[in-house]
Amino acid sequence: MVWLSNKSALSNIFISIRKYTTKNKYFAMSHSINTTVAEQQNDMYFGSEVINRVSFLRGDSDFITNAAIHPSARFIAFYKTDPLINKSAANKLAIFVNGDEQLKDSQGLWNSSLWRNTIQQWCQDNKEQSKTTRSGEKPVVLFMGLEDESVGLNLSQLKAGEKDDTTTEQQERFLDHQGRYQGIPYFAIDLTNASKELIEFFKENVVEGNPSKEDVFFTRSRKHYLGFTNKEAALYSHGKMFMDWLSRNHFCPGCGTLVVPIHAGGKLKCTNEKTIQKKTVAKEGEEQEIEIEIPACPVKQTSVSNVSFPRTDAVIITAITNTDRTKVLLSLSKRHAATRMYACTAGFMEPSETVEVATKREIWEETGVVCSKINIVMTQPWPFPGNLMIGCLGVVDFNGINENIHLGHDRELADARWFDTETIRKWIYDSPKVDNPEEILLPNPESIAFSLIKMAVDQRQQKL
Ligand SMILES: [Zn+2]
Repeated sequence: MVWLSNKSALSNIFISIRKYTTKNKYFAMSHSINTTVAEQQNDMYFGSEVINRVSFLRGDSDFITNAAIHPSARFIAFYKTDPLINKSAANKLAIFVNGDEQLKDSQGLWNSSLWRNTIQQWCQDNKEQSKTTRSGEKPVVLFMGLEDESVGLNLSQLKAGEKDDTTTEQQERFLDHQGRYQGIPYFAIDLTNASKELIEFFKENVVEGNPSKEDVFFTRSRKHYLGFTNKEAALYSHGKMFMDWLSRNHFCPGCGTLVVPIHAGGKLKCTNEKTIQKKTVAKEGEEQEIEIEIPACPVKQTSVSNVSFPRTDAVIITAITNTDRTKVLLSLSKRHAATRMYACTAGFMEPSETVEVATKREIWEETGVVCSKINIVMTQPWPFPGNLMIGCLGVVDFNGINENIHLGHDRELADARWFDTETIRKWIYDSPKVDNPEEILLPNPESIAFSLIKMAVDQRQQKL
């Protein structure tokens, strides 16, 4: 049994049900069903590489200030970790920019003194590592990174300028840091504690497609954030996971003192400045009375602290086959029994487990099946709230015992079943309705669970 905590988060691997109103909804999803494994790995929903995080620059407050006030700087907004979207726009995630003429159908935030004062105050707090960085009605700001050539930005086009772009100067279209790091800075801003005025300001600055007030809102509906483009999904996931971590950590786990975000939101710092004096040390074989000051906070005493940096929880998730891949084992959780959504086996890793051992343990605990071989094949960030899904393919060597299903160990599942791979293949490639009298559903195509099941099917095809 591994569901020690955060059980509801894990249930999110079984994403919302889609009714198959078209011939096959999978074809309309962001993942083409013909993608190779390498393409799936590189283009994983929520995990596409769309930002160069330049994490080594987070602690350079002068760089951060230049980035935050730069005309090209982009911002995505959150409220209680829900992203601001424009339902009526082609691209749903609302992306703001400081300067005018930077984005089509946008207006520059920098025109507003409210915004200028807000971001300049944050830059100052960030530089001073102020204890009041997130007090009062101050929003929490996170530097996400640079969109640069390494992630596909067409820098030469920006340098040349668009044909109809006559007024925006080249130096305004992208940030140039020391001639070495050139790109468009991206930030996330959490407005949970911000003034109503600032929240309304952001909503009113969503202008693409001239939306009505009802079309612009902070959403917690999967219908919306599973409908993002891959770039939007990656930006949302990146900002959301950091903001969730920042919003849940206000006090030092070592000493209980207030912690504040530093390094542009990339790190939390304990504000306990007290020190303890130790008076007796051994020196040259004798005990001597000297004074050494050490921090009163135990977190500050450690050379490597894992409570000061953002947290990611590892979850293993597995599609299971027999050795010739004619069978695929899928499971139905009790929580989702009504929806008939059969998915992969999944569970949190525990301390001091390898991925392979955790995967075998989880399969046995949930299904009773003994798995002999595990291959790690792909991973997916899962921002509900902060998981990394480690996707594996497991192989069970059928011998009359290994493959037997027994749900009585941890009683997580309503059912687990060996399906014919050919049947699953039809559901993915032809129609979910073929040979499906029970109206069984597969996971949503944006999930790694779907990719893993598809991979198991594809590998069977390759062997035929
Ligand atoms: Zn502390």
